[in-house]
Amino acid sequence: SISSLATADLGNERTLAIVKPDGVSGMYTSSVKKIILESGFAIQRELTVHLDEDSVRRFYAEHSTKSFFPSLVKYMTSGPVLIMVLEKTNAIADWRALIGPTDASKAKVTHPDSIRAMCGQDLERNCVHGSDSLDSAAREISFFFY
Ligand code: UDP
Repeated sequence: SISSLATADLGNERTLAIVKPDGVSGMYTSSVKKIILESGFAIQRELTVHLDEDSVRRFYAEHSTKSFFPSLVKYMTSGPVLIMVLEKTNAIADWRALIGPTDASKAKVTHPDSIRAMCGQDLERNCVHGSDSLDSAAREISFFFY
């Protein structure tokens, strides 16, 4: 049957995960991948890229009017990122649960076992990304992959 990368096998979901520049430069990619595989996700695609400003602006378009946007663009273009398509049942919510809250400094207190607590620093430099809904997962996967 015809399938696209944004469409998972029956009963599964796909989500987009990114190890952000602070995670890559901090040597966290292998520990993050280990957690991903031990948590039952299959890594369907992966790509290491140094994003340019235009790509980050388009990827985070929903935040374009926010005061933190210029800083976010600077951060996300500061070095290479590892982008992955993850698949399993309930992948979107389960990956969001694993990464923890957006603010890594708070995650260290409230979700000490989360990935952002492990390798993030603060509200901006939080080490990893995860799609937050079925719609954004589809959009984000097709943003980076065929
Ligand atoms: N971010 C920031 N300041 C804020 C909120 C978010 O710098 O006040 C950054 C942070 O890196 C976050 C990204 O912008 O991961 C996207 O924000 P979003 O609210 O979508 O959080 P996420 O879905 O990544 O948890």
